[in-house]
Order: sequence, then C-alpha cells, then structure tokens
Amino acid sequence: MTLITEQSIRPADLMSQKRACVIADRNYLLERRDQWVEVSCPACQETSFEAYGDKDDIAYVSCNACGTIYTNPRPNLTLLHEFYSQSENYAFWNEHIFPATETARRERIFKPRAERLDQLCNKFEIQGGTFLEIGAAFGTFCQEVDRLQRFKQVVGVEPTPGLAATCRQRGIETRECFVEQIEGQGFARTIAAFEVIEHLFAPQDFITTCERLLEPGGLLILSCPNAQGFDVATLGLQSGTFDHEHLNYFNPSSLSNLVEACGLEVLEVQTPGQLDVDLVRNAVHQGRCDLSHQPFLQSVIVDRFEELGKSFQEYLSDHCMSSHLWIVARKR
Ligand SMILES: [Zn+2]
Repeated sequence: MTLITEQSIRPADLMSQKRACVIADRNYLLERRDQWVEVSCPACQETSFEAYGDKDDIAYVSCNACGTIYTNPRPNLTLLHEFYSQSENYAFWNEHIFPATETARRERIFKPRAERLDQLCNKFEIQGGTFLEIGAAFGTFCQEVDRLQRFKQVVGVEPTPGLAATCRQRGIETRECFVEQIEGQGFARTIAAFEVIEHLFAPQDFITTCERLLEPGGLLILSCPNAQGFDVATLGLQSGTFDHEHLNYFNPSSLSNLVEACGLEVLEVQTPGQLDVDLVRNAVHQGRCDLSHQPFLQSVIVDRFEELGKSFQEYLSDHCMSSHLWIVARKR
C-alpha cells in the first residue's frame, strides 16, 4: 500500500491561498445567524446533549445517546442551499486545487475507490443499471466508475454550479441539483456519496431519499469522518475536519443505526482511511497538537514515524479506528 500524504492532495501553498475563500464562506454563514436553528441529534433524534466545544464561533455538541458530534444550532436548509450555490471555497477548489492535484487524487484516491466499489459490486452481485454519485465535484470518480464498464449509465449529482459545469464539460451526465429534488423512485442500482452526509442539514432525509431512488437490492455507499477515529479523537476540535461546512460527525454505530432506521440493511462498516497518522503528525509539527505528555503516541507518531507510521495506520484502518468511515447498505 502506498501511503497517501496530506501534501500530495492538499498542497500547502494552495491551501493557504484558499484561506481567504474559507473565511469569506464562514462569514457568509455567521452573518446570517438569524437563519440558524436548533436541532435534535442528526443520527438518533435524541434531544439531550453535552457541550463538546466551540470553534470559530460554531458550537459543537455530543449526543448523550449515540455519541454523534454535531453543530447546534446550525444554518437552516434554505441557507445551506444558498451557501453551496455561492461558495467561494468550492469555486477555488474547482479552479485551482482540483486541477493541480487531480493526477495525485486520481491515482491515490479515486482509482482505489473505484476498485473498492468494483469489489463490493462483485461481492453483492451488482451489474448493469444506473450508478448515481451524489456530490460528483470535479467528476474524477464518475470517470473512473465509467471505466469499470460495470454500469449501463453513470450519473453525477452536483449542486454547485461551477463543479456541475466541469462535470458536464467532461462528458458526465450531470444533474445540477440537490438529490432531494430528483423525482421518481427505484431507478438506481447503486448510489455513492463520499464526504457528503457530514455537510447536510438533515442526513435522515438524505438517506431516505437515497432509499427511494434505489432499486430493491440496490447498494448505498456512504463515506464520512468518523468521530471516534484516531485523528479526530486525538486532535478534537484542532482537527481540520471541524470546520463550518461539516455539521455531523457520526461514528460507526450511530451511522449504522441511522441507515437501518431509514429502512436499509447495513452490509459492511469499514474505516479504510490512510491519513490519520499523517494528519496528527502534521498537527504536532505545526504546534496544533502537543504529544509531549503522551510518550507512547509521541514515539509512534513522531520519533519512530519512519519505522512505525505505516503499520500503525494500517492497524487503525483494519480495526475500524481510522477517521474515514465507509458504510455499505442495501435496499430491502
Ligand atoms: Zn444521537
């Protein structure tokens, strides 16, 4: 396994240039506080919670029933839709970061992801029909899925205008809308949404929509951050994954329960993440994380990184302890 590094897919120079876009985006939401609302747990609907902490004027809480961490209050659905239609950060990714990193992303993220999809389809006997990717972004994954020649039709759903235009330019059949706006039912054999549900106002409505769009026996594949995974659990709010875009931080059991509550059968829960060790190590080097009082972690993550880093990352991935979570479910 080639270890992905943070630098290859998030180059430091471009990431620092996009900072102004991120701040503008965050301010867009913060300046519209009158459109923020209180919510119950996005995984189990429990209303009792404990404070997890504040970051950049956003309050995070932890559900007392299932441990999901979520922002509360949060922008309402209308504000979020407007936000993603005008996001400066997404425009910057479309114009700069995706083009500059596509080769690395294709080789290290999207090809292995398509291989994993292919293996899952073999395992669960999925062939032909329509594949729907929700949040198709730059279209790289749809291209790789198309190359598998497994599905009759590959469709990208992408609500951000610039990204949707890129997908269309690349010859991908593109629906420029939010998935809840797609009508009909039972036409998709497989739906994939990578790093989408953590952005959503109401993940339950999203999964229910996916269930509606799937054929009986069809697969739903979701990925998102794992709040109990190594880098999130170690860095807490210092983890880069805590930002104004991410509203929901599920864990393997809370997301499984939600998917089941939406009427799907959970087939597999995995954490194939590869970045935990690199993210924590970078945080230590940047002074965002101090492991000096944790000699064991200091040794594995920093002092003996060359010797132990790769196998420690593999250990985390293999034992559902990485911060990158996948769930595979099937429509009953
Ligand atoms: Zn909960």
